[in-house]
Amino acid sequence: MDAGFFRRWLTTAARAVERDADRLTALDSAIGDADHGSNLRRGMAAVAAALDAEEPATPGAVLLLAGRTLVSTVGGASGPLYGTLLRRAGKALGDAERVEGEELREALAEGADAVARLGGAAQGDKTMLDALLPAVAALPDLAAAAGAAQRGAEATIALRARRGRASYLGERSEGHMDPGSASTALLFLALAEVADD
Ligand code: ADP
Ligand code: MG
Ligand code: MG
Repeated sequence: MDAGFFRRWLTTAARAVERDADRLTALDSAIGDADHGSNLRRGMAAVAAALDAEEPATPGAVLLLAGRTLVSTVGGASGPLYGTLLRRAGKALGDAERVEGEELREALAEGADAVARLGGAAQGDKTMLDALLPAVAALPDLAAAAGAAQRGAEATIALRARRGRASYLGERSEGHMDPGSASTALLFLALAEVADD
């Protein structure tokens, strides 16, 4: 996987977020403040534009630019969290021109760890980590990772939120999918799609 692959991954993810922004916002309106779709749509559109303008030459540089752009364009909790995921993973990839699946797995595992530390959350807290951690565990098989992320997102429906805005609702957060886990599923679906092309 080269820089072009990583650019296609994130521009494909940006299109998926654009397409599903209303659904993500509807999920956030049930247990949050109804802005996850608009937050991420703005952030990922900025990522796609930045990648187009700068055409970073290595996978690591693609992820660093994307992470930096998310942090600076998304005001909500998801901006620093996704920004941390991508920046930490980008840093782990270093300046290699190409990366293999195993390196991607290690890099995203480091990124997921950093997200957990930043947000003080663990698996089962009804956050993006409930999709992210199973997806990373299924790597380097990209189709398996996409499936694991989607199942992880679906499993958040039954959970009670212990982190983020949804935790203010206590038991009333049960019965709704966590919006960040839904967007993480889109991110891994895009990765599998790009690998298939
Ligand atoms: P905000 O809650 O600030 O409006 P968003 O709506 O964009 O931000 O994103 C909300 C999502 O961020 C949640 O659905 C959840 O997946 C994720 N999230 C929030 N807080 C945390 C946390 N402490 N750790 C991990 N993920 C979190
Ligand atoms: Mg929100
Ligand atoms: Mg908000």
